Amino acid sequence: MNTKILKINVNSPEADKIEYAAKALKEGGTVAFPTETVYGLGADALNTEAVKKIFEAKGRPADNPLIVHISKIEEVDKLVESVSNDAKKLMSAFWPGPLTIIMKKSNIIPQIITAGLDTVAIRLPSHPIARELIKTAGIPIAAPSANISGKPSPTIAQHVVDDLFGKVDVIIDGGTAAVGLESTVIDMSSEVPALLRPGGITYEHLREILGDVQIDPAMLSKINADVIPRSPGMKYTHYSPNAEVVIVEGEKEKVVNAINQLVEIKRNKGLKVGVMALDETVKRYKADYVFSVGSENKPETIAANLFYKLREFDQVGVNIIFAQSVSEKGIGMAIRNRLNKAAGYNIIKV
Ligand code: AMP
Ligand code: MG
Repeated sequence: MNTKILKINVNSPEADKIEYAAKALKEGGTVAFPTETVYGLGADALNTEAVKKIFEAKGRPADNPLIVHISKIEEVDKLVESVSNDAKKLMSAFWPGPLTIIMKKSNIIPQIITAGLDTVAIRLPSHPIARELIKTAGIPIAAPSANISGKPSPTIAQHVVDDLFGKVDVIIDGGTAAVGLESTVIDMSSEVPALLRPGGITYEHLREILGDVQIDPAMLSKINADVIPRSPGMKYTHYSPNAEVVIVEGEKEKVVNAINQLVEIKRNKGLKVGVMALDETVKRYKADYVFSVGSENKPETIAANLFYKLREFDQVGVNIIFAQSVSEKGIGMAIRNRLNKAAGYNIIKV
């Protein structure tokens, strides 16, 4: 397939380029575009044949449902059965922005979107290119992250090119995705709201609006193979670079010492070793490649850098990455969730 790459200005998206991409979507094509969370791979959410192309390009399991993106709050009404008062409160507090809300679906949502569930996940992104594109196309857009299934999500257009060039119709280059992690997912379809995936909108933010919010147990720890998770995506390996990832957790000095010892053991075995450090500790590691994901005092920066750095370790070709753990406060919950999954819950406590 011929993939067209379109460089679009974030602050004032060029109308002719937006129209080109919108036309591709209306005609049942696939378009990768930047959002404030990560790059998404979009298709017409109401066109089953178009949505199939997303699953094919990504190699995504068919039982993992997609998030539907809209450009105005009013567009929600025709996609769901009804909108509860609490869901309305979330929309006015956090939309446009990195929050996905799950509600009972209406009849116009095709099966392929929800993988057969009776609920649908909806988000109104804040990124100017995403919003212009969805508005111009005039249709709701299904869009998972624009990576090969299982790989770290793309935060720049080059990541999308690396994974999907030749497999999609258009890739929009609109710079760096600011949040760097996928949206927070909250299920509002049941009695008590349940947080299914942490993200840029934190648990604390949600509790301010809703009071009671359940944390789904599958979110922070490994789930057993025999459990059916509320969010099908939870059961899959995610965000994994080619290298093995090991998290080392504990008091800072102990972590630094333990990682340096582990690095030496692996290097003596002839492996190429990477360390994912923080600004505060980056100079203290000796390994083949040491990258910092940011300062421990700036978790937003760590979130923005995490997937980028995991992909960078693959580019330099390390066999194993030792990652220093980060605090779970605020957006730290989302960082740890992604890092835990990238490591397949391979965590050493010191
Ligand atoms: P992605 O688009 O790849 O970032 O993943 C979307 C996430 O939302 C996955 O973990 C899905 O399993 C989850 N999801 C989408 N729709 C639903 C739904 N109706 N109910 C529960 N989880 C959903
Ligand atoms: Mg994804």
